[in-house]
Amino acid sequence: MSGQIFERYQKQLLFRPIGSKGQQCLNKSRIGILGVGALGSNLASICARSGIGKIVLVDSDRVELSNLQRQMLFDEADIGCSKAICAADKLSRINSEITIEAFCERLDARNFRDLFGGCDLLLDGTDSFVSRFMLNQQAIESGMPWIHSAVTAASGQSLFIMPRKTACLRCLIPDTDEPADFPTVHNSGIIAPIVTIIASISAATALRYLVEKHIDYNLKYYDAWEHRFSSFAVSRNDSCPHCRSFKQEQK
Ligand SMILES: [Zn+2]
Repeated sequence: MSGQIFERYQKQLLFRPIGSKGQQCLNKSRIGILGVGALGSNLASICARSGIGKIVLVDSDRVELSNLQRQMLFDEADIGCSKAICAADKLSRINSEITIEAFCERLDARNFRDLFGGCDLLLDGTDSFVSRFMLNQQAIESGMPWIHSAVTAASGQSLFIMPRKTACLRCLIPDTDEPADFPTVHNSGIIAPIVTIIASISAATALRYLVEKHIDYNLKYYDAWEHRFSSFAVSRNDSCPHCRSFKQEQK
């Protein structure tokens, strides 16, 4: 490990579960992030600073003034720019020793492998019901682990999904049609603290998985207004169309 790399990750290296061996694991790891808005820009910032070797960013949106309240990588000069490309530029200035690829595209079943093939882990930074279920289906079919994150109003949740082992998003939410009264950022708003809290919970889960291959079976829920935290196991649903074809391998 060169002197500059040692200096950059000095405090992370002192954290024993990571150390120099774990740091090398992180440097060799490749992750994909779908959505580089509120959750995604926080996830990307933590992953880049932690030294994850390759980060693939996918987002077709552009930065708007109303994003700046919670999308931590962007500022007023970025309004109108591609979120993925602008985030990649900021991240490369935070850590020039890692590889960052940015795609201003909408993820679908046809480009999933082109964009995210070869990644060790995928992170959910989207706020779209449809995109999230598409990511779930593609990740399960490709055998790729991913971490679901979602935030609305003052609360949010994080769930690690390992195909063939843990419950998937469809096990948790069987109906893929978004109900009209389902709370979303568009009808219930969002405060910035819950974004950084849930992104941090998911990023910590990601670091531990990449370093130790630790599989976390619990859904973590946090309400930042009431300061209420809960964590509980989610069971695989026998009628889930994605999981039912797999032989039961749950712990
Ligand atoms: Zn499932």
